[in-house]
Amino acid sequence: MVEAGAPELIRVTAPNAQAVNGEWLGHKIAFFKLQNGEWAALAGVDVEAPTGPSTLHVSAIDHDRTDVMNQTVVIHAAHYRTGTLSVSPKFVEPGPDALKEIDAESKFKAKVFASSASQPIWAGDFRAPVSAQPTDSFGTRRMFNKKLASIHKGADFRAAMGTPVHASNSGVVVLARPLYYEGNCVIIDHGLGLFTLSMHFSRIDVHEGQRVNKGDVLGLSGATGRVTGPHLHWAVRWEGAYLDPLKLLKLNLNSVP
Ligand SMILES: [Zn+2]
Repeated sequence: MVEAGAPELIRVTAPNAQAVNGEWLGHKIAFFKLQNGEWAALAGVDVEAPTGPSTLHVSAIDHDRTDVMNQTVVIHAAHYRTGTLSVSPKFVEPGPDALKEIDAESKFKAKVFASSASQPIWAGDFRAPVSAQPTDSFGTRRMFNKKLASIHKGADFRAAMGTPVHASNSGVVVLARPLYYEGNCVIIDHGLGLFTLSMHFSRIDVHEGQRVNKGDVLGLSGATGRVTGPHLHWAVRWEGAYLDPLKLLKLNLNSVP
């Protein structure tokens, strides 16, 4: 039983397997081996995933033998709140030039998200990107200027302008540039389809292709892009699904991988 949007550490006992693969609601799951011979994967279902029973398919491959383990996982709805925000009209009804820019950016992001390291680059617990309180919950349904409705797929931290933002875990910077909605944005690939995204920076201090360690400064928080004021928007993406960042921070991953 899981909540939509919650990241989960899935463990499989298959000490003799050469590889363990999974599939869950159309997302491929790549498992990695733990020191105790178990296999694990960080996975989750999108906050907008349909609720009800789903099937988690897992295959353990041992030379010429494949063991298939299927498990029914019941997905529960996350608790949504509704919020209303006022932003500059250009973020609700972008003009033709802006639409072109937004389109080019979404193609670039799709390319960035299409490849991820084949091994986990992260290790152990994820740490909060700033030492500030998260203010708005993941999954809130939002109305911008009473028009555009969207689901908030990240956590907002009340970070004053210029607060250093840290890498929550080790990885490779795959995007570090200004974007229309995200403002100055930094995306880190942590491997096996897991990315963290930090938005609205006043300054970016890393470059694309750079390897970062947990705790490294990525830049300074700010108020660029679609914002109502200075804050850090921090998001967790796994295989195209957005997961609750605050729940990732609560997962005990100390012995992983
Ligand atoms: Zn946000």
